[in-house]
Amino acid sequence: MKVNLLDFDLPGLIGWCEGLGEKKFRATQLFRWVHHRGVSEFDQMTDLAREFRDKLHQLAEVRALPVVQRQDSADGTIKWLFDVGDGNAVETVFIPEDDRATLCVSSQAGCAVGCRFCSTGHQGFSRNLATAEILAQLWFVEHTLRREFKQNERIISNVVMMGMGEPLQNYNALVPALTVMLHDHAYGLSRRRVTVSTSGVVPMMDRLAHDCPVALAVSLHAPHDALRDSLVPINRKYPIAELLDACRRYLPAAPRDFITFEYCMLDGVNDQPEHAQALVALLHPPGGAGVPCKLNLIPFNPFPASGLQRSPDAAVQAFARILLKAGLVTTVRKTRGDDIDAACGQLAGDILDRTDVQRRVARQRTIELVRTPHI
Ligand code: SF4
Repeated sequence: MKVNLLDFDLPGLIGWCEGLGEKKFRATQLFRWVHHRGVSEFDQMTDLAREFRDKLHQLAEVRALPVVQRQDSADGTIKWLFDVGDGNAVETVFIPEDDRATLCVSSQAGCAVGCRFCSTGHQGFSRNLATAEILAQLWFVEHTLRREFKQNERIISNVVMMGMGEPLQNYNALVPALTVMLHDHAYGLSRRRVTVSTSGVVPMMDRLAHDCPVALAVSLHAPHDALRDSLVPINRKYPIAELLDACRRYLPAAPRDFITFEYCMLDGVNDQPEHAQALVALLHPPGGAGVPCKLNLIPFNPFPASGLQRSPDAAVQAFARILLKAGLVTTVRKTRGDDIDAACGQLAGDILDRTDVQRRVARQRTIELVRTPHI
């Protein structure tokens, strides 16, 4: 099979090109054609020597992911479902807002963490995505929308690694993809505008701080270990105290001076006033021993296999008031794209339900496939 150029960060591409006897600056030109300009046809790369283009034709390609389905919402949100082979599909979601346009990117087909409120977690883990498959989501959406919107300027201003999968459990593919997102010859995103969301893989948080410190969001969802053990099973390995220590260690390298904590509001489970008070005690205790942070309260997208329900709005507002009164910066996340498939992962779930039922039944997994995003 031909080499997929989307698999390389710039140093990797330079090494590959040098192996073909090409100079470093040729690799940089090629990198710009692919990522900055979205060109996949070597004949259109007019400043590359004919001999180099011939080699590329023989050995390489820019291999995008096949699109299984696209859904456009009236609010501008667009979801794509991409085929990653062997009956697996991943979702990518474009979310335009007044001051930004965010792409939510998947890092794995399925997920091994198994959070109770997440349908991807209920589906189980299939495999890690390659660097090319992570980058192909950004490459495709950025350049497709530039053509559709007839715009030469960059469309996507923010990337959040909050799609399907735990990105820090696919670290070796993730970091090269992040470096391409940040590179001026590619997408040129600032570190503040690229966010990795993790359920709390503590050793990899430390490595990310060293290797590629982008903005960090942590899926918290509970103020104490007993509850978090039941919602986010990785907590049994890396309990809250260790997780918060890792957040404190991350901050000096982070591009922002706070960590974002995601908190999915589950009716009667983690949304009571005592949970809010326990969160305040955990994150903002007297004496300043907490973690500089921002809290995102997220409406749960119910799916039957979870046995969980969305918190009523009044409970969410009361919860937010307690946090705000204690001085914690708190936002309540709006849902987007409700008219296409409300929950992130729902599209993948529906398609998988239709195309992959037998294997899933054989694995005795749930096929209730509405998913809350990696939060
Ligand atoms: S919320 Fe994230 S880490 Fe948890 S199961 Fe879902 S995709 Fe995996």
